[in-house]
Amino acid sequence: MSSIRIAIIGGGPAGLTLARLLQINNISCTVFELDTEAFSRDQGGTVDLHARGGQLALKHAGLTDEFKKYARPEGEVMKLVKFDGRVVFDENMEGNARPEQYADRPEIDRMNLQQLLLQSLKPGTVVWAKKLQFVENSSTDPGRYNLQFEDSREEGFDLVVGADGAWSKVRSYLTDQQPYYSGVTAIELWATHFNKKHQWLSDFVGAGSCFMFAEGRAIQCQKLGNNSIRVYAGVRQPESWLEDCGIDWSEPDTARKELVEQYYADCGDDLKGALLDANDKLVPRKMWMLPVGYRWKSDAGVTLIGDAAHLMTPYAGVGVNLAMVDSLDLATAIIGCDGDGAKIPGAIRAFEDKMLTRAEQFAKRTYKGLIGHFSADGCEEMLERLKGR
Ligand SMILES: Cc1cc2nc3c(=O)[nH]c(=O)nc-3n(C[C@H](O)[C@H](O)[C@H](O)COP(=O)(O)OP(=O)(O)OC[C@H]3O[C@@H](n4cnc5c(N)ncnc54)[C@H](O)[C@@H]3O)c2cc1C
Repeated sequence: MSSIRIAIIGGGPAGLTLARLLQINNISCTVFELDTEAFSRDQGGTVDLHARGGQLALKHAGLTDEFKKYARPEGEVMKLVKFDGRVVFDENMEGNARPEQYADRPEIDRMNLQQLLLQSLKPGTVVWAKKLQFVENSSTDPGRYNLQFEDSREEGFDLVVGADGAWSKVRSYLTDQQPYYSGVTAIELWATHFNKKHQWLSDFVGAGSCFMFAEGRAIQCQKLGNNSIRVYAGVRQPESWLEDCGIDWSEPDTARKELVEQYYADCGDDLKGALLDANDKLVPRKMWMLPVGYRWKSDAGVTLIGDAAHLMTPYAGVGVNLAMVDSLDLATAIIGCDGDGAKIPGAIRAFEDKMLTRAEQFAKRTYKGLIGHFSADGCEEMLERLKGR
């Protein structure tokens, strides 16, 4: 058993994957998570795990078979619609389906991913209801770190890993850099129990995703494995748009109608219908990002993985995959230290260099996706990518 004391802040995909990879290599760690218990909040929609991304990390974690139980290859099926309603690409149509060998990015509901990772950990690994406020150097134990939580304090860690997402408190130990508004806000609309209440929407979306991209606007509909659909209505608007636009988001039924009338009136009837039909819940989301290629000065015993390190918008669909590969690389670096704390600073430096070089490439691609998707040629650009894949 390793003598290095490791704290992981945040029990999302990054933190839980890292914990699993360490544990199967006999390295103990504790995950501190702000949620009060497992699944105490919605975990989000569906994500596709790439062969060289999330799937690779799960393979090293010995969880491929478990992943296959929940994986939904049919979630990869894509439909693309122009803003005026013309369907320009549809893999649901007979004869259009991709050959099986290309189906290497199965979707998984985020809830199921969370569940399979949590179940793989030793009991007690995750300490719930621990909201980190800040990390600080120990004044009594040089080279070690203390964690201040809202209601308690934990002391004497050799390594603190910030897997605490977009608004990371661990990041604040390393840098003043905060995420900034990406220029896009998405209104997330839910349709639950589609087999009973939303059959039309289910037929329109098809087996996987149905996307529309146009100048300043996008609609992304995604089917989940739990008989529900998420529809994201994205608009390129100023940061204060949610507050200033005159739509009362606390009144979802009127808000959806006003959203459609004011921002999607010229769209095809099916697209408008999708926004109106997904009427079970409405969640407005501003999209934030860290600067492309952002780096911080490496620290001896504090590092970041996942969104905490390189938050991007979802417009290239890579965030979870990067987060899980970060965990794989960091676990490999820690394992390579053989329990010798003196080797940790060098291992962190090398890990961060690799992680941030990779993240920069994907951040550039994601930024291109953000600009491209919300342009007049957004659909054409996506069509070229789909034909090429
Ligand atoms: C609408 C949307 C759609 C997306 N779609 C995709 C997709 O299709 N494919 C894809 O690859 N990615 C997608 N992403 C991105 C993906 O969700 C993230 O990149 C991924 O969740 C990052 O994982 P993480 O573990 O780093 O952070 P998170 O998932 O954010 O997990 C962070 C964890 O830390 C906890 N935490 C936060 N603060 C504290 C604190 N102070 N103390 C203790 N715990 C704390 C949180 O409760 C959470 O459990 C999408 C994102 C959004 C918003």
